[in-house]
Amino acid sequence: MENPLRAELALDASACTSCMICVRECPTWCITVDAHQEEREEGGRRPIKVNILDKFEVDYGLCMFCGICVDACPHDALFWAPDAENVLKEGASGNGARQNLVYQIAGLEGALPRAVRSAKKEQS
Ligand code: SF4
Ligand code: SF4
Repeated sequence: MENPLRAELALDASACTSCMICVRECPTWCITVDAHQEEREEGGRRPIKVNILDKFEVDYGLCMFCGICVDACPHDALFWAPDAENVLKEGASGNGARQNLVYQIAGLEGALPRAVRSAKKEQS
């Protein structure tokens, strides 16, 4: 999905398969993904193994907003939100600590509705 405004990364955790492609492609190594495997019965003869996402972190202190992770994700799990609402809020209220620039699943998913709204606006 094309989105020229790259303010904040948004994650659809339900679409992420923990494939690690974004982690490997990111030029600044600012994405961290952890996952474990679980067996699931899917009606077949054998249970299948699925990856369960435990951790998805983006370090905005290192991110250069290049968009490679968004383009490389084969499962459409990463998007751009067009405004940096979360980051600006943190900047205004945070204590400037380095760890406040590291965003976890909840924060990245929080940007998803804004990313989807922006994509719909572009399409209309
Ligand atoms: S936008 Fe670029 S630097 Fe930032 S997390 Fe994605 S690949 Fe890494
Ligand atoms: S490339 Fe996409 S599916 Fe793979 S770990 Fe990254 S966000 Fe998840």
